[in-house]
Amino acid sequence: MTEDTTKTNDDKQGIDMAGISQMLMTMAPTMGPEFSGLVSAFMGMAKTEQHQMSADWIKNWVTNPESGGAYIKRLMALHPNVLKKFVAQMMANVFFRDHDTIKDYTDGGVQPPGLVLISPSMRCNYKCVGCYAAQYSKDEDMSFETLDGIITEAKELGTRFFIILGGEPLVYRPLFDIFEKHNDVAFQFYTNGALIDKDMARRLVELGNVAPQISVEGFEEETDERRGKGAFARAMRAMDNLREAGCVFAFSTAATSRNIDSVTSDKFMDLMIEKGAIYGWYFLYMPVDGDSDMSLMPTPEQRNKLRMATNRFRKEKPILMVDFWNDAPLTGGCINGGRNYLHINHRGDVEPCIFCHMATHNLNDCSLAEALNSDFFKHLRAEQPYSYNTLRPCPLIDHPHVMREAIEKTGAYPTHNGAEKVYTDPKIKAEIDKYAGEIKKFFNPIWEKEYAHWAGKWETLLNIPVEQVEARKKQYLEEG
Ligand code: SF4
Repeated sequence: MTEDTTKTNDDKQGIDMAGISQMLMTMAPTMGPEFSGLVSAFMGMAKTEQHQMSADWIKNWVTNPESGGAYIKRLMALHPNVLKKFVAQMMANVFFRDHDTIKDYTDGGVQPPGLVLISPSMRCNYKCVGCYAAQYSKDEDMSFETLDGIITEAKELGTRFFIILGGEPLVYRPLFDIFEKHNDVAFQFYTNGALIDKDMARRLVELGNVAPQISVEGFEEETDERRGKGAFARAMRAMDNLREAGCVFAFSTAATSRNIDSVTSDKFMDLMIEKGAIYGWYFLYMPVDGDSDMSLMPTPEQRNKLRMATNRFRKEKPILMVDFWNDAPLTGGCINGGRNYLHINHRGDVEPCIFCHMATHNLNDCSLAEALNSDFFKHLRAEQPYSYNTLRPCPLIDHPHVMREAIEKTGAYPTHNGAEKVYTDPKIKAEIDKYAGEIKKFFNPIWEKEYAHWAGKWETLLNIPVEQVEARKKQYLEEG
């Protein structure tokens, strides 16, 4: 069995993990219909203006019986071990990071990213359309010692949340040893779910600090079309096993120009809730190399459809949806380059974002701290937010000149075959430039109407220097 280490004092993030864990354990059995205890506990924990705003949002949300109210009941029905570890760690990291404390560490050297993404193996048990996992062999997997070393260093810097990707993480043998050894932090792993049987679900609940993210492309037709016949049924069976064991899990979907109607439908979201997903992710189909099919990228209208669906589900359904692009106003824009996250591939290359396979540093030759302080990452961080309109957050598809310039200035190399073509191939560049122009035209009026009055202030509460936000505002106004 794993050691109970939830009493860690997370001083580098200014987080009272022990307090949050204790609060959840006390609340779960006694939760009343009006959640007044939960709300006052949250209010009591708010130390900063940003915390106070988060606590106010939670207060409003839980008083809606359709969404937050019903959601908290679902959350509290999870296994106590999961509440004490994963849920407490997530609340701490999402709502109660103390940016003043983090800033002290930034001033002293290296800023701890809120989350670190690692792909220790690129192998997979599936052969999905358009996926490159089949090109990799077991010999190329990251060793246990390397992965352990990366997580240990990130923890020393102050990171408490790790995301494991691939390939299929469950074919990487040392995975559960890592989860067990680092039981004082939270893990998510993205999986097709095929290998999650009842025993594995029980093991995950015993660990308590891990949440699988089950990938689906919509319903059976869309999922099986990309992932092979039977993939949807296996994903649903994994969800059943996890729900029955009391494990926290999410669904994850990449929205394309083809599946957008399915994944934003009430029918789809109701199915995910019925299956037991506690939260869900919307990503966009992204060009990552020269073979990417640009016609699969959601149009501006479709990207907005995702935004509207996310907002609607938050008001009407007991599930927490995260929309990786359209929620950027909540994170002060793009979080890449170590401001809040980065990705490390199986070879140790340190990439600014999971969708950008370019790097200047490799962890076989340097520490994580050195990679975080690389010119490549510093350049990307200094430019953030890439627009005052953080509904257009992305240096890959909304402001492509930013990533091109960062790559050119720092000599970043491709970490995956053909990745550089996204930044150098004239045809792909022209298509992305056109897309960025259309996004600007479509999303600027929405930003002005719905976000501009609060989002700039929020950015400064998230540790983005006021001068940087003001400079973007000026630039935005001048651009027209
Ligand atoms: S680079 Fe784009 S995809 Fe990556 S974190 Fe930033 S906004 Fe998201």
